Amino acid sequence: MKKGFIISIMLLSFQLCAFAQHKISIKRSCGFSKEDPPAEGYAWGADNQALEYIKRICQVSGISKNFTVERSSATATACALIDFNNNRIIYYNQHFFASLGDETYKIAILAHEIAHHLNNNLFTKDSNRAIDELDADKFAGSVICKLGLKLEDAKGLYLTQCPAQSTGLYPAQSDRIDAFSIGFNDAGCQNTITPKLATKSAETGDFCFQNADRVGYKATVTILKEGKNGAIKTISVSDGEKQCVYELEAGVYTVNISWSDRWSNNIPSTTQQIRVRSGVAGTLALQH
Ligand SMILES: [Zn+2]
Repeated sequence: MKKGFIISIMLLSFQLCAFAQHKISIKRSCGFSKEDPPAEGYAWGADNQALEYIKRICQVSGISKNFTVERSSATATACALIDFNNNRIIYYNQHFFASLGDETYKIAILAHEIAHHLNNNLFTKDSNRAIDELDADKFAGSVICKLGLKLEDAKGLYLTQCPAQSTGLYPAQSDRIDAFSIGFNDAGCQNTITPKLATKSAETGDFCFQNADRVGYKATVTILKEGKNGAIKTISVSDGEKQCVYELEAGVYTVNISWSDRWSNNIPSTTQQIRVRSGVAGTLALQH
């Protein structure tokens, strides 16, 4: 009786430890649809439902876990990060998850965050974050297919949670849905959406703009193509940042580069030509 009592206390202590809150600090992470600002907060054990989802994702994709999963209010959605001891962690906000309702949404988000760890993403400013996001979406699409869930259900997640326009670190909503659809398709599922990448000719390439200038100078890049009316795309690149435009038709483009400093003084713009090569990512260093 006494022995049983001691074992019960030991088990209870273990459970308390497993679910005990502990202080955390998020510096650099990859939120699902928006960047979490650096924050301090608390984290504690994942709930059974999330653990079950993680188990199903790992089983169906044949991967072994190289991360831990915890709840935390320090993230607004869910994020993947590497802590100071180089541990790979996924935090999710339980209120955000509860608000999602749809099981497919939660599985797709967790699969996306798991992909960041599988792909050994580093979440640094220099790493090509937009491409990391698309790779993670593609993996999430494959998981949704393998679990027998519906593409249309998962698509709703992107339509409701992700910004329509690219935010630099995060690609545009349509690009993310395409990446997700391709992952879904490649995993052997019938796709009701025709992915843009699959129907386009292979004659496309990506082009990145690196703001190599002094602190405080923001570049606005307008991309124009001969024979086409208006700008193909206009992007803002803050100091030290790199922004990419994806799947541009191969060819020569004219880019207008204008600058503004932190006091919003405009500096005369310059014009340059860039060549987009099929299947190759080009980069232009921006300097004034
Ligand atoms: Zn991500």
